[in-house]
Amino acid sequence: MAISGDYIKNYNKFKEKKRNIKNMQGSADKVQTMIWNPRFECMDREELRALQLARLKETLERAYSRVPFYRNLFDARGVKPADLEKLEDIRKFPFTVKDNLRENYPYGLFAVPLKQLVRLHASSGTTGKPIVVGYTRQDLENWAECVARIVTLAGVTGSDVAQVTFGYGLFTGAFGLHYGLEKVGATVVPVSSGNSERQIMLMKDFGTTALIGTPSYCLHLAEVAAEMGIDPAALPVRVGLFGSEAWSEKMRQELEQAWGMTATDNYGLSEIMGPGPSGECEYKNGMHIAEDHFLFEVVDPETGEPLDYGQEGELVVTTLTKEAMPVIRYRTRDISVLNPMPCDCGRTTARMRKVTGRTDDMLIISGVNVFPSQIESVLMSIEGIAPHYQIIVGKRGHLDYIEVQVEIAQDKFTGQFRDLEALEEKVRRRLFSVLSINARVRLLEPKSLERSTGKARRIIDNRPKNGL
Ligand SMILES: [Zn+2]
Repeated sequence: MAISGDYIKNYNKFKEKKRNIKNMQGSADKVQTMIWNPRFECMDREELRALQLARLKETLERAYSRVPFYRNLFDARGVKPADLEKLEDIRKFPFTVKDNLRENYPYGLFAVPLKQLVRLHASSGTTGKPIVVGYTRQDLENWAECVARIVTLAGVTGSDVAQVTFGYGLFTGAFGLHYGLEKVGATVVPVSSGNSERQIMLMKDFGTTALIGTPSYCLHLAEVAAEMGIDPAALPVRVGLFGSEAWSEKMRQELEQAWGMTATDNYGLSEIMGPGPSGECEYKNGMHIAEDHFLFEVVDPETGEPLDYGQEGELVVTTLTKEAMPVIRYRTRDISVLNPMPCDCGRTTARMRKVTGRTDDMLIISGVNVFPSQIESVLMSIEGIAPHYQIIVGKRGHLDYIEVQVEIAQDKFTGQFRDLEALEEKVRRRLFSVLSINARVRLLEPKSLERSTGKARRIIDNRPKNGL
């Protein structure tokens, strides 16, 4: 069902009224803009598809005529940009994968001369050459626009003090959020990662109201605050934007409880832009996609066959406005589901479900597929253990084993062996009911696992590579 422009207008008026009442104590400039760019975020879906089609044609043309890699790829497949007549025709075009980006290090995928690039970023590849991405001035503007939308989605306004705990540098997270937050007028505190006690001090002294980082690090920050004798929930932090690693609903609850905040998820990856492509609104029921800038598809991870709305599979993304580095049908390895139904917030953009895992994180334990996110949701559902865990996979003889190490919650530690045994057994049983495999469980003392300032290292696979 298409939503008419008038409906949206009325709806927005209604929402604004509601907000104004809530913000009565604030000054006039504190009135919140609920939707950053209603023109595109509340677009009629037919109109949106027409816009996507026009932009997709331009993008294919740009990639084919300016990037030898794409020309060769399309030629090998026997397709030309002119073969695209309707949006669905994108399926005729070949996928690109991470290795393609790596192989073209450093500048092989750029569609503009170096002179037109105003920024470079790169992945933190742990092995070999990183993946390099570049931006023209217009790309940076579009990036800030997309991030302005997601921070507004999360409820951040020009009145917020936003502390960015992502590491500034080649990684896209910090700079991406930074410019979008500035665009909405928030006061940005670019602390960068690490030095947790200082983070807490600044948070307190600067009156930070919005916290930006990885969910695992921001949960760790709550612990640090408590150790410093500061109740994190008593600090003015009211909203969090978390991304860059998969996290569960339970972890959201932990964050919200610890900080007394609304914790929101957002999604993006350096290969297609950085943060910005999608984020959650106040209803936290999927992340709204900037569909005027990106075309999202879902495919079967095994066969690459396209899947319908509502079916779970791997996200595939095509950029629609990137000048410097158009990316065609990029296999993200992220597992999600797309939902095109209008949202209660008034936006008409499709939503993607929280990413529940990555195809390359998927562990195969004695022939059974296991996503670390499944383990996390089991752990988070059990009282008495902390949200810090690690998964060890190894081989004994010819058999795989999986060991889940998880910290006991400080306040639930009774010191009684009997209680520990019961808790361990409970975790083991729950894991079995979800995974259908027997996992070993090892309870750890509180705070014994190493805390990361970036993405938490959750999985250690000790099995010999190349199989058996
Ligand atoms: Zn919404």
